[in-house]
Amino acid sequence: MSTEKAFHICVLPGDGIGVEVTAAAAAVLEATQTYSGGFALTLEHHVAGAGAYRETGIAMSDEAWRAAEDADAIFLGAMGLPDIRFDDGTEIAPQLDLRFKFNLYAGVRPVSAKRGGARMLSDPRAENIDFVLVRESTEGLFASRGKGEVLGDREARDTMVITRQTSERLFAFAFDQARRRKTSSHCNKVTLVDKSNVFVSMAFFRKVFDEVAGTNPEIDAERVYIDACALDFIRRPWDFDVVVTENMFGDILSDLAAGLVGGMGFAPSADIGDERAVFQPAHGSAPDIVGSGRANPTAAILSAAMMLDWLGHRHGVSQCLDAAKLIDKAVEEVFFDGQVRTYDMGGTSSTADLTDAVIEKIKGSQGK
Ligand code: ATP
Repeated sequence: MSTEKAFHICVLPGDGIGVEVTAAAAAVLEATQTYSGGFALTLEHHVAGAGAYRETGIAMSDEAWRAAEDADAIFLGAMGLPDIRFDDGTEIAPQLDLRFKFNLYAGVRPVSAKRGGARMLSDPRAENIDFVLVRESTEGLFASRGKGEVLGDREARDTMVITRQTSERLFAFAFDQARRRKTSSHCNKVTLVDKSNVFVSMAFFRKVFDEVAGTNPEIDAERVYIDACALDFIRRPWDFDVVVTENMFGDILSDLAAGLVGGMGFAPSADIGDERAVFQPAHGSAPDIVGSGRANPTAAILSAAMMLDWLGHRHGVSQCLDAAKLIDKAVEEVFFDGQVRTYDMGGTSSTADLTDAVIEKIKGSQGK
């Protein structure tokens, strides 16, 4: 009888290049389980997103929702198309609905220069950029999504919501990340980003942060305002370890951070709650490059590695943890070799070229 641990993955490729990079990540996952062993993944694909809405009037069917609910993990490509919108002008975004419905409060965005993207900063210390941005993903200013009001065509209002319960969980998660990342080369600290000098909601956010920091005395805690943080992301990004912030600030900072290490094609992410998690590249559907073979699948492939890491920790399956490391290492080696350079790096390697190169590295690592 097989002792392999079986995991059921709900796959939602979505729109635009979401479909292309999901196929790449799926191929890498398949190779990884073949060459790594010890676990088995079943990938069940479902249609959802703006294209689905255009065809059927429903962005995510009940069947897809049930599959997401029942799965061990959810993998998502990208969703939304600029021309397809609800009547109020907002984009079709089931990826946001997933975060709210499953209470995926911790949006994890690793930012690492090791993964090969073009260096945006000439300072040699930029090689050491390696931090994790934890974006609260269920409240903050996004809590107003679908609830904002326009008063008589004179004024519009959206409301920021910060709750103690979510903030406590979020900060505990951030300190836990710092603990996990503890190595001799890391400065090991959690940086809170807020605007507590102006908004009462942000002062409350900081108060809860201070309380949670007090229960984690072995990890340094620092606090910076969002405007200063934007400057420091450019001036000294190598000094950050774990950065935790409100939803809207995190939305903006994560694109800025991705820019530091080569762009959206290098930005993996996970939205994690206490029970479920969604893994997806941080980029959108990129309609400007869809169908051209120019989509960089690195972010999607690394998101798949994050999924294996999460499954491994959650279910105590060491082979999944090893497989996640195997993917990370394969990606790093491909870029280190320098043969494959995707379009966003100024090269001409296609989505398939990079995917094949990563799979070759995974195959080649066996028996080493
Ligand atoms: P969203 O609001 O849905 O997150 P966005 O408006 O931020 O999306 P993206 O779709 O992420 O836009 O694209 C932003 C830019 O980055 C585009 O020029 C796009 O082509 C490029 N881009 C995004 N993802 C990738 C990728 N995987 N590979 C190469 N280029 C990408």
